[in-house]
Amino acid sequence: MIQATPKLTPFGAVNNRVNRASDLLGIKENYRKLLTSCWRETKVSLPITDDKGDLRIFEGYRVQHNGVRGPYKGGVRYHPEVDLDEVKALASLMTWKCAIVNLPFGGAKGGVSVDPGTLSEREMQSLTRRFVYSIKNIIGPYKDIMAPDMGTNSKVMGWMMDAYGLIHGYTPAIVTGKPVTLEGTLDRVDATGLGVAMITRRVLEERKEFLSGKTAVVQGFGNVGSFTALHLHRMSAKVIAIGDISGVVYDKRGIDVEKLMAHFEAKRTLSGFQGGEFATREQLDVIGMECDILVPAALGHVIHSGNMHKVKARYIIEGANGPVTPEADEYLGKQGVIIVPDILANAGGVVGSYFEWAQNIQVHHWERADSKLELDKFLSAGLQGVSAAAAKYGINYRDAAFAVGVDRVYQAARARGH
Ligand code: NAD
Repeated sequence: MIQATPKLTPFGAVNNRVNRASDLLGIKENYRKLLTSCWRETKVSLPITDDKGDLRIFEGYRVQHNGVRGPYKGGVRYHPEVDLDEVKALASLMTWKCAIVNLPFGGAKGGVSVDPGTLSEREMQSLTRRFVYSIKNIIGPYKDIMAPDMGTNSKVMGWMMDAYGLIHGYTPAIVTGKPVTLEGTLDRVDATGLGVAMITRRVLEERKEFLSGKTAVVQGFGNVGSFTALHLHRMSAKVIAIGDISGVVYDKRGIDVEKLMAHFEAKRTLSGFQGGEFATREQLDVIGMECDILVPAALGHVIHSGNMHKVKARYIIEGANGPVTPEADEYLGKQGVIIVPDILANAGGVVGSYFEWAQNIQVHHWERADSKLELDKFLSAGLQGVSAAAAKYGINYRDAAFAVGVDRVYQAARARGH
C-alpha cells in the first residue's frame, strides 16, 4: 500500500513527487495538470451469485492514468482496502515506471474491493469474469493490458484471458503473467526478483563496488523476495538473513538460497531449515541487521520513523512497493544510505510482462537466455538514465527516477501535439 500522509491521499502523495519533478524540469501548469490527472477512471458494480445462492455485489475499478507512450499496462489487485484513490496512485506509478525503463506502455491499475481469502474458487472465477465483462470495451491488447497484483495470480489471468476471448476471440496478449500453458512465459515468474538483483549489481558497479562477498538481508520470501535472494546468491553475494511472516533464517557465512527454496517448496515455511539458524520476527528484526544491502521485499511502510535509526545497511533496494516512508527516506538519505526506489528497483516485473506481451503479439517464443540479457539491458539503461539525472540535478535516485519518467511522458505528450 502507498502511504497517505496526514495531508495527502496516496494519489496526492504520488502527485507531490510528480510536482517536484515538474519543478525541476520547468514544466508549466497546464502540462502538470495532464501529468497529475488520470485519463479515465472506471468504477463498476460486480454482482455475483455466491455458493449459497445469494446475490453479492463488489466494487471494481480500472484507472488508466496516462497513455501517451503506449497502451495502458498495470495489474489488478483483489484486496479489501482497494479504493479509487489508491488505484489512481498505483496507475500513476505505473506510468512513471514504464517510462523509466523505456517501455512503450502507459500506466494503469485495476482492483476489486474484496478479501479473496473469503471466496471459493468458483466465486473468484465468477467475480473475475464479471469484472472483465464490465470493462470489456476499454481494455484490449493495444488498449490496456492487465496483469496479476496482490490477491490475483496466473490462474486469475487465465480466467481473464478466457473471458475476454469469449467476447473478442483468442487474445493471449490481453493479460500478462498467464499460466505457461496459455502463452505465459517462464521468464515472467522470476523477472521482478531477478531484476532487483540485476539493479543491485549495477548500482554497486557504478560505485566501483562488486556484489561478490557483500552481505545482503532480504525481507520477504514470496515471489519478489525469494527470487531476489536466489539471484543475489547466484551472483556471489552473501545472503546472511531472509525473513518472512513465519520468522527469520540467518547464517553469517551465507545461506544456500537454492536449498532454502527447495525447503520452502516442500514445507511452505522458513522454519525447520537445516542450513541456518532460525529466529522469530520478534527475536530478530531484519531491518536493523548489520549488512551491506537491505532488500525490503514484503510489505509497504516497513522502514519508518520508528525504526529508521536502526538501519545499518549502506544500500536499500526497494523490492516491495513503498517500503520506506517519506520521513525515513529523508532521514536515511541524510545518513548517506543509498536508496534505490521501487519504481526502478522492481521494474523487472513489468519488463518481463512486456516480453510476454511482445511474444504474444508476435506469436513467437523467445529463448530464455535472450530474455535475461534483454532484461538486464532494459534495467541497466533505466538505471543509467536515472543516475545521469541524479548527477545532473544533484538529487537522489528517487527524485531522479521521477524526473526521468515525468520528462519522457511530458516529451511524448508534446510530440503528440498536446
Ligand atoms: P508475495 O505475497 O508473493 O510475498 C510476500 C512476502 O512477504 C511473503 O514471503 C510473506 O511471508 C512476507 N510477509 C508478509 N508479512 C510479513 C511481515 N509482517 N514480515 C515479514 N515478511 C512478511 O508478494 P510479492 O509478489 O513477492 O510482492 C511483494 C511486494 O513486491 C509487494 O509490495 C508487491 O506490491 C511488490 N511487487 C511485486 C511484483 C511482482 O511481480 N510480484 C512486482 C512489483 C512489485
